[in-house]
Amino acid sequence: VKYFSDSPQELADFQSDFKNARKVVITSHQNPDGDAFGSGLGLYAYLKTLHFDSVAFISPTDYADFLGWMPGVSDVVVYESDQKEYAEKLMAEADLFFCLDFSAAARIKDMKDSLLASPAKKIVIDHHEQPEDFADYIFWNEKASSTCELVYQFIDKIGDVEQINQESAICLYTGLLTDTGSFKYEATSPEVHRIAGLLLAKGVVPNQIHRSLFDNNTLDRLKFLGYILNKKLVYLPEFRVCYIKLSQKELQKFNSKTGDTEGIVNYGLSMAGVVMSAIFIEKDGLIKISFRSVDDFSVSDFSREHFEGGGHKNAAGGRSKQSLEETVEKFLNLLPYYKNQLLLQPK
Ligand code: 5GP
Ligand code: MN
Repeated sequence: VKYFSDSPQELADFQSDFKNARKVVITSHQNPDGDAFGSGLGLYAYLKTLHFDSVAFISPTDYADFLGWMPGVSDVVVYESDQKEYAEKLMAEADLFFCLDFSAAARIKDMKDSLLASPAKKIVIDHHEQPEDFADYIFWNEKASSTCELVYQFIDKIGDVEQINQESAICLYTGLLTDTGSFKYEATSPEVHRIAGLLLAKGVVPNQIHRSLFDNNTLDRLKFLGYILNKKLVYLPEFRVCYIKLSQKELQKFNSKTGDTEGIVNYGLSMAGVVMSAIFIEKDGLIKISFRSVDDFSVSDFSREHFEGGGHKNAAGGRSKQSLEETVEKFLNLLPYYKNQLLLQPK
C-alpha cells in the first residue's frame, strides 16, 4: 500500500495512473449514509468534469429516501438490484477504482469479490479505524471528520480545487455535516470549518442542505420515534448506558422504511450522564447494531471485540446472527465488565 499523502513519489505515481485512466468506478459502503454518498457523489461530480471516457458510482445496496435529493443520485448504479450485471461489467472494465468511506472490503458486501478481482488500480479514501491492505493507494486519516473532508484534501493534493463545481460542493458539504453531527463532534476542527467555508463559496446553501437531510420526516417516522422514546428507550443509570431494541414486527407496524431508524441511537446519548448508547434492529434474520459514545469510551473497540463491527471511537456499527433477545442479553451481560471504564468518563 502506498500512503501517497506522505510521499511526493507516490503522489507522482498516482497522478500518472490518474492521467492515463479512461474508465473510473467509485463505490462506498453498504447502507450508505450522508458521508458515503456525499463523498461518492462529490467525487463523481468532480471527475465527470475531467478527461475520463466514463465515470460511474456503484452503491453496494439501495439508499434511503433522505439521500434522494442529492445531485447525481439518479445516476447511481445499485449493485443489489437488476443493475448487478451492469455493475459487474463496469468493475471488470475499470482502470481506476475509488473506494470511499470504507477500508474493510467486507463493507461492500457481495461486491467484495468483484472489487478484488477488478484489474483497476485501487485507491481507498477513508477515515475508519484499522484499514485493510487491498488497495494500491490509500489516502487515509482516522482523525479526519469525514471522508468528504478527505476527498476535498485529495482534490487539493492533486492541485485541482478550482475544478470543484456546485454539485460536488453540495455533496461534500453533506458528508461534513452528517459525520460531524452538524459540526458538533470532536473531529470538528478548524480544517472542517475552513473547507465548509470554501464549499459555501462554491454555492452551497447550508439551510437548504440541512433541511433536505433533517427536516424531511414523514408523519409515520415521527410517530415511530414517539413510540420508541415512549416505550422502547431503556436507561441503565448504574452503567450510564441507554439502549433500544426493535423487532422486525415493530418496524413493519410503523411502516418503517430504509433510513427511518438513522440517527435514533443519538437520542439515548443526549441524556445527561449517558456515556454509551446502542440500538439493536432486527432485519431479515440479522441484528444490525449501532453504538454511540462520548469521551474516551471506544465503541469501535467494543463492537470489534463482541459484535463483528468497528468504525470510530465514538460511532461504530456491528451485527449479530443470534436472535434479537440473545443479542441484547449478550450486550447486557458484557456491561459489568465495562462498568469501571463507563463510570470513569468525565461527561
Ligand atoms: P452506523 O451505526 O451508523 O451504521 O455506523 C457508525 C459508523 O461506524 C459509521 O462511520 C460506519 O461507517 C461505521 N461502521 C459501521 N459498521 C462497521 C463495520 O462493520 N466495520 C467498520 N470498520 N466500520 C463500521
Ligand atoms: Mn464517514
